[in-house]
Amino acid sequence: MLKEHVKLLIIGSGPAGYTAAIYAARAELKPVMYAGLQPGGQLTETTEVENYPGYPEGIQGPEMMMEFKAQAERFGTDVRDGLATEAYLNETPKRVVIEDKAEITADSVIISTGASAKWLGLESEERLKSGGVSACAVCDGFFYRGQDVVVVGAGDSACEEAMYLAKLCKSVTMLVRRDEFRASKIMANRTVATDNITVLYNTETVEVLGEQVVEGVRIKNNQTNEESTLEATGFFVAIGHKPNTDIFKGQLNMDDVGYLDVEPGSTKTNIEGVYAAGDCADKDYRQAVTAAGTGCMAALDAERWLADKGIH
Ligand code: NDP
Repeated sequence: MLKEHVKLLIIGSGPAGYTAAIYAARAELKPVMYAGLQPGGQLTETTEVENYPGYPEGIQGPEMMMEFKAQAERFGTDVRDGLATEAYLNETPKRVVIEDKAEITADSVIISTGASAKWLGLESEERLKSGGVSACAVCDGFFYRGQDVVVVGAGDSACEEAMYLAKLCKSVTMLVRRDEFRASKIMANRTVATDNITVLYNTETVEVLGEQVVEGVRIKNNQTNEESTLEATGFFVAIGHKPNTDIFKGQLNMDDVGYLDVEPGSTKTNIEGVYAAGDCADKDYRQAVTAAGTGCMAALDAERWLADKGIH
């Protein structure tokens, strides 16, 4: 197992991590980044990003993340594959284990581990994950060309998934548990106006049907308790995300869901020299540009702290 000491360790490779890396590398902190389970983060699962400033025509999420990575590497960030599986942040120096690959000690750590898709928690959903249940239309939509699919959720993600699938599939049925969308007006309006998208309000999933592959969905109207069955071959869950902070439990302060606490107006956690940026510490905004902004702040916070401690 590799054992190594670094000045600054960055955990996670979304917009927050890469922006922290760009700033830290330019400040000659020689950052080492472990990219995590999903290198590039959630934007690698999205299509067109239209709201990141500087791209008037929009840009594809995966392409944008390749550009972030190239920019971080250009200034010397050492970007590595690997998932942080254990953290000992109260030790000096701080220690992080990367699977069975490496044990890194670091003077300072930036946590930019993002968030991951949430699931409904149904047994049938779990069982059919390799047979038609998905949390990523862009990844898996292709397999359901010309077919009937279901999308669960009513936020911007669910709308985005439904509109993406509507281009490929014969029909998309959206299951919305309340009588209204949570999504922004523009996204909800576009979704409702799409011909082959049907929205079922006050509707919940009872069970995903099928043995090996999805064959349908048992649904329930939560006002009347009436159950019915929809035929579908794909079941896409888009009900939000959970921050990837489990390994920091008991060390870093976090809320009930797992969003890390930071000192307002900074990225400082409750442990000196440990900073949090991006979605793992942001339950309100969760945008690429806000993640990038806090990534910049984390690098500046780390740089100042290292300088104060006389670590060069
Ligand atoms: P949100 O938290 O905004 O929405 C989650 C949706 O899932 C809600 O409608 C919620 O219902 C529903 N939901 C949650 N749990 C269940 C359940 N058990 N059963 C059924 N439905 C459930 O998450 P998103 O991922 O959509 O968005 C996260 C953030 O990212 C938002 O700030 C959003 O604006 C942003 N975003 C922006 C995009 C863009 O601008 N292009 C694209 C994607 C995301 P309820 O409303 O009843 O709580």
